[in-house]
Amino acid sequence: MKTFLTSLSLAFLMVSCNTTTEKPKEAPKKINEFAIVIHGGAGTILKKNMTPEKEEAYKQKLEEAIKVGYNILKEGGKSIDAVEQTIHVLENSPLFNAGKGAVFTHEETNELDASIMTGNDLNAGAIAGVTDIKNPISLARKVMENSEHVMLSGKGASVFAKEQGIEIVDSSYFYTESRFKSLQRVKEKMKAELDHDGKTAFYDPIIKDSKFGTVGCVALDKSGNITAGTSTGGMTNKRWNRIGDAPIIGSGTYANNESCGVSSTGWGEYFIRAQVAHDISALMQYKDLTLKEAAREVIQNKLTKLGGTGGIIAVDKNGNMVFEFNTAGMYRASMNAKGETEVKIYKE
Ligand code: ASP
Repeated sequence: MKTFLTSLSLAFLMVSCNTTTEKPKEAPKKINEFAIVIHGGAGTILKKNMTPEKEEAYKQKLEEAIKVGYNILKEGGKSIDAVEQTIHVLENSPLFNAGKGAVFTHEETNELDASIMTGNDLNAGAIAGVTDIKNPISLARKVMENSEHVMLSGKGASVFAKEQGIEIVDSSYFYTESRFKSLQRVKEKMKAELDHDGKTAFYDPIIKDSKFGTVGCVALDKSGNITAGTSTGGMTNKRWNRIGDAPIIGSGTYANNESCGVSSTGWGEYFIRAQVAHDISALMQYKDLTLKEAAREVIQNKLTKLGGTGGIIAVDKNGNMVFEFNTAGMYRASMNAKGETEVKIYKE
């Protein structure tokens, strides 16, 4: 009897072992042949502070921008072109904190950062602290394609831009009244705080809880290539040639055809420390997490625990599109291969 039972349990064990080894992990399906997502910044974006006209203006610009990239992808174009051209629309609009609408530094200047990365070759280009480049994303692309370097900064980046035929503008191009007024408000608030405790405060709470208007785009093209790009004016009242996460590969931007592409927006120092964009890709690649799981883990757990605020947009190699943020809102839009469009601002 005992021998019979032992053989029975042995047989059972073999059957159950076989079932587990025979059932391979289902390969994730390609859900979109191509896809594109964009953001125009995250932060304390509340419906109660918005007028219907303003809301409409943001939505229209997001839609206009994403359609530019979508049409390139639909025609079989490259994701790098889709990302660059889409970001141009956002950089040329005063609504977002990138290009034309860049925020002001403490010294009342504008210093722009941008980066771009392609997922087929892990190539990347970035620029930081430029003051006279109309479309920083295009200069980042030139750094990637036509130089030996990954990141150029300040005056040197402008010299390179001239050599590359990139459009240079007078720094007055970046003046917008609303951004200038924001700086004055922050300075007044800061002055009040300085009077209070006598310390130099760079990160006033008004900035911490405020809006981040950086722009970004991630696209997957029909050839399976992922590109991610990010462009920003940084944070209002920044000083000492501060550089945020937007031009840092692995923080503000990352792309890998084996996993996903990511573009970030938020309080840059935290995104640098948390290595947000690369971490999401690494969780997918090394831990087999889905894009949604990976993005949630990094934003809602790692970044939030550190005290960072903001969000990301991402597309994976199968065309899944994800938005993840821990703020009240994020200007965002997505388009799938069927042309179905979503444009959103607030948390659902
Ligand atoms: N991440 C940007 C920075 O820290 C700001 C933003 O997202 O608007 O420079």
